[in-house]
Amino acid sequence: MASDVVTIDKVAALCRRRGFVYPSSDIYGGLGSSYDYGHYGVLLRQNIRGEWQRAMIQERDDMVALDSAIILNPQVWVASGHVAGFSDPLVDCRTCKLRFRADKLEDASCGKRPSKHPGETPQCDLTEPRQFNMMFDTHVGAVRDDASVAYLRPETAQGIFVNFKNVTSSLRVKPPFGIAQIGKSFRNEITPGNFIFRLREFEQMEMEFFVRPEDAEEWFRYWVEERRRWHVSLGLRESHVRLRPHEPDELAHYATAAVDVEYLFPIGWQELEGIAYRGDYDLRHHAEHSGTKLEWIGQDERYVPHVVEPAGGVDRFMLAFLCDAYDEEEISGRPRTVLRLHPRLAPVKVAVLPLIGKDAAMVERARALYEELRKTMSAEYDADAAIGKRYRRQDEIGTPWALTIDEQTLADATVTLRDRDTLEQDRIPLEGARELLLDKLGT
Ligand code: ATP
Repeated sequence: MASDVVTIDKVAALCRRRGFVYPSSDIYGGLGSSYDYGHYGVLLRQNIRGEWQRAMIQERDDMVALDSAIILNPQVWVASGHVAGFSDPLVDCRTCKLRFRADKLEDASCGKRPSKHPGETPQCDLTEPRQFNMMFDTHVGAVRDDASVAYLRPETAQGIFVNFKNVTSSLRVKPPFGIAQIGKSFRNEITPGNFIFRLREFEQMEMEFFVRPEDAEEWFRYWVEERRRWHVSLGLRESHVRLRPHEPDELAHYATAAVDVEYLFPIGWQELEGIAYRGDYDLRHHAEHSGTKLEWIGQDERYVPHVVEPAGGVDRFMLAFLCDAYDEEEISGRPRTVLRLHPRLAPVKVAVLPLIGKDAAMVERARALYEELRKTMSAEYDADAAIGKRYRRQDEIGTPWALTIDEQTLADATVTLRDRDTLEQDRIPLEGARELLLDKLGT
């Protein structure tokens, strides 16, 4: 099973080797915990966003989309409580001079090398915790003074709340309804790390669901289960996903209740997505600070809606999907590394391979098939190297199917369909190959 063999380092190495993820600014020695996404990483992330949008927006009739700015009026972050309270407790180690999050010390390790004296390992000597605000600030305009300070958003959610009035007055929405948004967020994390698990620049997928106060608890339960189901439906093993309700003392400043969908990463159980019941905290605070009424006015009702928020991250989902899909096995005495990604997430759905890359007739047939397929799905054509090597390369990037054109194709217009997971090879008619794959994809 993948859980026995997968480590974050192996996933990171594969991602670099196969063009999913590169260390950012690599030729300058990188920038702590910052990454760039390569071709297959871009495609995988597009698919993750696409599946989220499909489930949250396209296949529902109670949801609308939004794409708000990254830099908002700084008052937004005063009203939301971020200027005063978006901080983590920071401790310094007097021995190794490193900084840690006081509430995540189990993940920390003293950076000092073991002592030369056997049996003596340096212990961290920690200062008292002090609060460290995680918002990145910048200046808007030509003058750099206190009045021009603005923040890079630390979450996408606030862009949604401040648009509540715009959305309700321009679109056909009525509680219960949601506003969904995908976009970059920035947090000056004290201890980023574990590859793309905790970044300073990351992408969030958040949705705010506005409901009547008396219906909120039921919707909260609904969204917790709905989001758990989504992760499993895209291939995460049920045994690697669990729900963890927050203890009252760990609730964020805006939340009345919260449940984390956790995933069993190689580093242990960690938050994958958070579902929070935010009550009327945000709309009420923005109404107070802005002087604009933010409420629902129906025919004979008027109230401030309560909010349920599922909030996840593209990068963290990507890491979970990669860890769950990663597998190593031996096939006829040869090692094989394979990403068993759900076909809908796989960066490439099908590889088209002429068995003999130098055979003009096979190449012509293969190119024609490839050019037809790529109109409706992400496909790849590969005529280089031995066929086994080409299969292995596709296995490592998680391509679920390969179609191989050989002598027999030229004679009877059939191709071999190879399945990444079962390794079965079926002969199928060329005609209809595209429909067969679309059918398997469920699109
Ligand atoms: P943590 O406790 O891990 O710092 P959080 O509870 O502050 O996370 P939320 O504010 O609930 O996180 O963010 C919602 C989601 O956004 C998280 O579940 C995660 O998927 C993603 N996320 C948050 N911070 C980061 C980060 N620094 N890097 C990558 N993804 C992140």
